[in-house]
Amino acid sequence: MCYGTVVRCLFLFIATSAIAQNCTTAPARPKQGDVIRLTCSGDVTSARMNGFTIRLFPHQDGNRLGLMPVTVDEKPGIYAIEFLTAKSIVNQSHNVTIADAHFLSQNIVLGKQLAELQPSLGEYDTVAKFKQILTEDRRWAEPFLPPVPGCITSPYGVHRLHNGKPTGNYHTGLDQRTPAGKPIRAIAGGDVRLAGHFNLHGNTVGVDHGQGLESIYLHMSQLAVKDGDTVNRGDVLGYAGSTGRSTAPHLHWNLYVNGIPVNPLQWVSLKPCAKPAKHR
Ligand SMILES: [Zn+2]
Repeated sequence: MCYGTVVRCLFLFIATSAIAQNCTTAPARPKQGDVIRLTCSGDVTSARMNGFTIRLFPHQDGNRLGLMPVTVDEKPGIYAIEFLTAKSIVNQSHNVTIADAHFLSQNIVLGKQLAELQPSLGEYDTVAKFKQILTEDRRWAEPFLPPVPGCITSPYGVHRLHNGKPTGNYHTGLDQRTPAGKPIRAIAGGDVRLAGHFNLHGNTVGVDHGQGLESIYLHMSQLAVKDGDTVNRGDVLGYAGSTGRSTAPHLHWNLYVNGIPVNPLQWVSLKPCAKPAKHR
């Protein structure tokens, strides 16, 4: 309620509306595979870009925060991010320019046995369900801990060829050089929601960090946790190995944001190996 002149009340209404509707996006120039952070101080509860809708969750600083993933193959250009109220009314719209990340191609030489390896029954479905988990409580805090200290042998986003033939797939995570048996640690706190052996992924652990963020760790020699365990940042999830479709001991891990694999290098700082895997 406002008591005063019409002009004063109108001014107050406009001023409070402007504050209530204030949303920001970061970074200023996101690339393919990045996450756009959406922060709003008003009653915005979701946001939409290119037909993809995500939720914004209350944050301890009083704002709401949402993570909009940019897919690896999103066409570079200008996109509108629409911010929606609980009643799905568009409250405001911001334009963002998505830049080309210029991902390279990489050939992987697989022996006959690895090339012909078939997924376990339900393997893809299990992982697909895991990455869609959306829990209310935020269990993650920044900075994230790199799961192992090793350099990067294969970055996110490279187009993958197997024995010279394009697979049509891209590398959805990071490969880090890691000797077999080295501990693999949780990048942030959360709940283990996937722990088991699969033909292609090998021994795998998946952690739900809350509010649409998950991480998954593959090819382990041994698991150290089970489904349902709660972990803190830095807890050991398992030990590096070369199980599943893997040519040598290493860690492959992915970061999922609202179901989309995104580039972990926006979240952790790691260097490429001096001798990276061969690109072509
Ligand atoms: Zn990999």
